[in-house]
Amino acid sequence: MPSAPKWLFDAVDLFISKLPYVVITNVEFISQTVKKIHLNGDFKDLSFPVGCYIDFRVSDTEARRYTVAKADRENGFLEFIVHVHGAGSGSQFMQELKPGDKIKMNKPRTERNYYDRSANRFIVFGDETSLALACSFLPVLKQNNQDFHFYFELDDQNKNAPELLGLENYTTFSKNGSFRNEEWIAELPLFQTADFQKANFVLTGNAKSAQSFRKVAKGKGAQKTYLHGYWLEGKKGL
Ligand SMILES: Cc1cc2nc3c(=O)[nH]c(=O)nc-3n(C[C@H](O)[C@H](O)[C@H](O)COP(=O)(O)OP(=O)(O)OC[C@H]3O[C@@H](n4cnc5c(N)ncnc54)[C@H](O)[C@@H]3O)c2cc1C
Repeated sequence: MPSAPKWLFDAVDLFISKLPYVVITNVEFISQTVKKIHLNGDFKDLSFPVGCYIDFRVSDTEARRYTVAKADRENGFLEFIVHVHGAGSGSQFMQELKPGDKIKMNKPRTERNYYDRSANRFIVFGDETSLALACSFLPVLKQNNQDFHFYFELDDQNKNAPELLGLENYTTFSKNGSFRNEEWIAELPLFQTADFQKANFVLTGNAKSAQSFRKVAKGKGAQKTYLHGYWLEGKKGL
């Protein structure tokens, strides 16, 4: 429910159990449009599976989803990586958050089980909105010795964001529409690698790019593809 009348959000808020107030403890601009946000609170009783997200009420009438990039339940610490892309209410809300701010948050949710312990290899695709997802995948994949590669389409100003966030095994591409071109996607070196059909493809970020990627991957025989568009041109929230 990305948009709803204020009375409806207020009514839902009464019934959904919320986290007690959490405090913004640090913010860091990785680039002009990618912001890392640290929060402190009591998260001991919660679980944070890979790719879980939180619905933030970003105004009286709007809610937006953001992925938990890191969670440390022992020390009461959460991290988000947000794309502050413009004048959307989510982007503005995130842009304005500063140390000392207190916010009320919903509990984390997952719609899809992105992570599969039995998979040998993961291909994770997305854009700036998927950097947090990659950060949530990385420690688990390394700990369990699973093969992985991240592919990002990024604005040129964000080319260094994966490195600055400590990501590994990634390839970046300019966000120039290439991921709308199925013939171009089909030529990616990953489709020449052995057994790529057996990899788990997790396709996120811009909905049209992710859809094109999935169409090509499936056409080439990929057996497990998980599609989750995070945003779509001209559409508020997803
Ligand atoms: C499960 C899930 C997890 C997500 N996790 C994250 C995350 O960790 N970090 C993150 O930054 N985003 C994440 N997103 C995406 C984020 O919720 C959307 O980008 C959302 O639309 C932003 O809301 P907004 O109010 O800023 O813009 P909206 O009001 O929703 O949209 C206003 C306009 O901006 C455009 N727009 C929206 N997002 C972008 C963008 N990223 N770049 C360019 N134009 C855009 C829309 O198409 C629309 O035209 C996630 C989405 C989902 C569904």
